[in-house]
Amino acid sequence: MNFIMVSVLLIYVMMVILFARRLVAQIELRGKWRLAEERQTFQGLQAQKKSLSEEKIKLEEEAIKIFVLYELTKETTKSVHEEEAFEIFKQKLKEHVSFRDCRLFDPASEEIEHLKQSEEYFVFALCAKRRRMGFLAVQEVPDEDKEKLMILSHQFALVLRRVRLYQEIEKIAITDSLTEVHTRRYLLERFKEEIQRSRMRRMKASFLMIDVDHFKKFNDSYGHLAGDLVLREIAGIIKENIREIDIAGRYGGEEFCVVLPDTGRQGAIYAAERIRLASEKTPIKAYDAKITATVSIGVSTFPEDGEKTDELIDKADWALYRAKKQGRNKVCSFGIYEG
Ligand code: GH3
Ligand code: MG
Ligand code: MG
Repeated sequence: MNFIMVSVLLIYVMMVILFARRLVAQIELRGKWRLAEERQTFQGLQAQKKSLSEEKIKLEEEAIKIFVLYELTKETTKSVHEEEAFEIFKQKLKEHVSFRDCRLFDPASEEIEHLKQSEEYFVFALCAKRRRMGFLAVQEVPDEDKEKLMILSHQFALVLRRVRLYQEIEKIAITDSLTEVHTRRYLLERFKEEIQRSRMRRMKASFLMIDVDHFKKFNDSYGHLAGDLVLREIAGIIKENIREIDIAGRYGGEEFCVVLPDTGRQGAIYAAERIRLASEKTPIKAYDAKITATVSIGVSTFPEDGEKTDELIDKADWALYRAKKQGRNKVCSFGIYEG
C-alpha cells in the first residue's frame, strides 16, 4: 500500500516538475519574444531618432541658407546701383565662401572667354528668369564651397535683374519716347538743381530754347510720321553737339531745350551755333525725299538774365522770338539783343 502511495506521489511530483518546467519554458519563450519585440521597437525608435536628427540637421542647414539668402537680399535691396549691389554681394560672399577675387562681367564680354580657359577661375553664367544677366568669375574657390557659391550667386542674379529693371523703368520715366531726350519734367527738375549748384559755387549756367523752323510744313507736306522723324533727327543732332554734363530735353511739341552747367553767355552762344549749323547741314531722309530742317535758338544766362529758372526760361523764349523775327535759322541771346 505504502509502495503504491509513494509511487503515486512520485508520479505526481514528476508531473508537477514536468508541468513546472513546461511553464517555465513557456514563460522564458514569451519573455524572449517580448524581448525581441522590444528590441525591435527600440531599434525602430533608434532609427527614427537618427532620421529625425538628420532631418533636423538638414532643416538647420536649410534655415541657415535661407537666413544667408535673406541677409544678402536685405543688404542688396538697399542699393539700386549695379556696382554697389555687387560690392555688397562680394562682402556677403566672403562671410560664407573662401575665394581670392570675384569679378562680374556683362553677357557680351569677350574677356570672359580667356578666364573660362584658366584653371584658377571658376566661371559661370548668372541667370534670372531664364535671362542671362552676366558672368561671374571667382578666383581660387575650393570645390566644397562651389555649391554655396552657386546658391548665393543665383540670388545675386535676381538682385541684378531687379536693379536693371529699376534702372530701365527710371530711364523710361525720364525719357521722351519719341525723341529719346529727357522729358520736360525731368529737365526742369535738373535745371533747378543746376541753378542752385551754380548759385552756391558762384558759377554761371546757361539755357537754350530751341524751336524747329516752319515745322508745320513738314507735317503738312510729308505727313505726321515724317514730322516725327524730323523731331527724332533734331533731337539726335542736339545730343551730338552738347557735352556729357549738359542736359537736353523736349520742352513740348517741336521745342527742345538744353541746360548748360558752368557755361557763360559766349560759351552758350557757341554751343547754340554748333547745333544750328549741324541742323542746317544735316539732310534728313523722309521716305524718298531729302529734307533739311533748321532751328532757331534763344539763349539766356544765369545770373545776369535771371536768378530763377522761370525767369531764365522766359528770357530764352523771348530771345527765341527775336530769332524767329530776324528770319529764323538764327541764334539770339537775351542779354545781347534785348538789352
Ligand atoms: P515756326 O517756325 O514759327 O516755329 O513755325 P512752326 O510751323 O514750327 O510752328 P507752329 O507752332 O505753327 O507749328 C508747330 C507744329 O508742330 C504744330 C503741331 O501740329 C506740330 N507738332 C507738335 N508736336 C508734334 C509731334 O510730336 N509730332 C509731329 N509730327 N508734329 C508735332
Ligand atoms: Mg514752336
Ligand atoms: Mg517751330
